[in-house]
Order: sequence, then C-alpha cells, then structure tokens
Amino acid sequence: MTKPRILIQLDSDPHASVFDAVVAIDAGVEKLLQYADVEPLEVRGLVHGAMFTRGVADLRQTAISIGGANVAAGEELLRRVTECFFGPLRVSVLLDANGANTTAAAAVLAAGKHVALSGAVATVLAGTGPVGQRAVRLLARQGASVRVASRTLEKAAHVCREIEARVPGAKLTPMKTTTDDETAAAVEGASIVIAAGAAGIELLSADVRKISRSLKVAIDLNAVPPLGIAGVAATDKAKDQSGVACYGALGVGGTKMKIHKAAIEQLFSANDLVLDAEEVFAIGLALS
Ligand code: NAP
Repeated sequence: MTKPRILIQLDSDPHASVFDAVVAIDAGVEKLLQYADVEPLEVRGLVHGAMFTRGVADLRQTAISIGGANVAAGEELLRRVTECFFGPLRVSVLLDANGANTTAAAAVLAAGKHVALSGAVATVLAGTGPVGQRAVRLLARQGASVRVASRTLEKAAHVCREIEARVPGAKLTPMKTTTDDETAAAVEGASIVIAAGAAGIELLSADVRKISRSLKVAIDLNAVPPLGIAGVAATDKAKDQSGVACYGALGVGGTKMKIHKAAIEQLFSANDLVLDAEEVFAIGLALS
C-alpha cells in the first residue's frame, strides 16, 4: 500500500508558514509536520527522522520544504539538510523561503513571454534583496545581460560577484540608483525592468518611465502602495502600455502560485530532488 505523502516544513520563523501549508495541502500533501524557529544545528535530527523511518522505495512519499522570511537562514537550512543525505537515504527538498524562488521564477517567465531572454538587456531594481537576487541569477542563466541596481553601489557589486561565482559567464553590471537620473541611466537601453524593491517603495517614477523608450516589459513585484513602478497597477498582467507589457505583483502572483503548487507535487516524484531557484524556474517553464 502507498504510504501517505508527508511534507516536513522547516521554517526559521516563530510560526511555520501558513501560506506554505495551504499550498502544500492543495498540492496533495496528506500530512504536514511543521517545525518553527528551526536552527541550523537542529536540522540533522529532524532530517534523520525523515530519512530512517521508511524503506528506500517509500522515501519519495516524504519531502521537506524550507520557508521563513529570512532567505539567508533558509539557504543555510537547505545546506544543512542536503549534508545529512547519503547513498539512497535522502528525501526531496524545496527551498522557497519568503516565496523568493517561486516569485523570481514567475517574474522571469513573464519577462520571457515578451522578450527573448538570451542576449536581452535587463535591469533589476533593488536586485540585492532575496527576490531580486534570484531574478538576476535566473536572467543571467538565460543569457541576459543584467544591470543590478541598488541604493549602494558596493552592495550591488557584492551581489554581482556572488552570482558570477555561481553562474559561469554571467554578464552583470552593478548600478547605483538613488536619483531619477541614475535610475534612468540604469534602465536606458534595457528591454526588461523588474522592480524587486521592499514593500511600499516606488523605484521607477513616472518621469523616468516617460524617457525609458527601450522597455518592452515592466514587472513590479511590490504589492503594497506606493507601488514599485509608477503607472503599473498591482493587478496588471501583460497589460499593454504604449508597447510595454506591464505586470504588477498580483499579475505575477497567479503564476507564482501555480509554480509553487507544481513544485510541491514534483517533490513526491522522486526522493533525490533539490529544488532551488533554477529547478523552480524549470518547473515554471514546463508549465508555460
Ligand atoms: P526586501 O528584501 O524587503 O527588499 C528588497 C530591496 O529593496 C532591498 O535589498 C533594498 O535594496 C531595497 N530597499 C529596501 N528599503 C528601501 C527603501 N526605503 N528605499 C529604496 N529601496 C529600498 O524584498 P524581497 O523580500 O526581496 O521582496 C521583493 C519584493 O517582492 C517585495 O516588495 C515583496 O513584497 C515582493 N514579494 C512578492 C511576492 C509575490 O508573490 N508577488 C512574493 C514575495 C515577495 P538596496 O538596499 O540594495 O537599495
């Protein structure tokens, strides 16, 4: 008899994500085991509980999802989880702390519907946050030249170095964007702009939009007013504005939800999957 599908939520927050739990149940998970405030040193015991309880043939019915607002903490939990595995004794694992992987994947997929990503010039405003960094990484993997914008040039340069170390041949340029003139320069000549700034921060003003003539797609991931791109509503989904396809956070959110659900389903197709940004993007591509 097939064993029930168990998903173990490892979350760095004081409460394991309700959002992640609901998506998991909607994706067919039969039993959720939720662990909150998980510290890296606690991972081993928790993961051993998952590895050593079922026979190898049934391990695909157990999986782990890593959540929490702090994406760096989630990355560390993922590293600790994968360190526990050996031989066939492993279970599949998804990292989607703060929704960063599924959101960035949905944004880059939306961009790719309007512009061929290979060879494109893309600007990621606030490309230093967890979502922005992943959007930069995914765009770079697809062969785009990416301008990584930040209020601090050194912060942008640091992100570029980290992604260059991960993505061989990545074409990245750090840019400082604290004034409209600097933002206009960061967007000039780009066909894609993704605004990945913190909630409630406008990053691309109406004045800069007026003079940004090269854009073909503008994607804002901030759903909290003031929104990240002037003139783009949160609900916009491929809305044409003078030749620019515009997406707001909710417009991207539907795809993000589909990718998240499909990623959970995929966890139970094998016992050796590690789903991080690239794998989550591939799931999105297969859905589109
Ligand atoms: P975050 O870490 O809160 O912020 C991203 C970047 O915004 C920071 O690295 C910072 O860049 C910049 N920033 C912060 N405060 C700022 C300020 N006062 N003025 C200008 N820039 C500021 O964001 P995140 O977690 O990566 O998420 C990015 C966006 O995606 C957020 O708006 C979030 O709500 C949204 N989101 C959407 C979904 C969805 O399903 N649609 C899911 C997850 C997240 P610098 O310091 O380098 O300038």
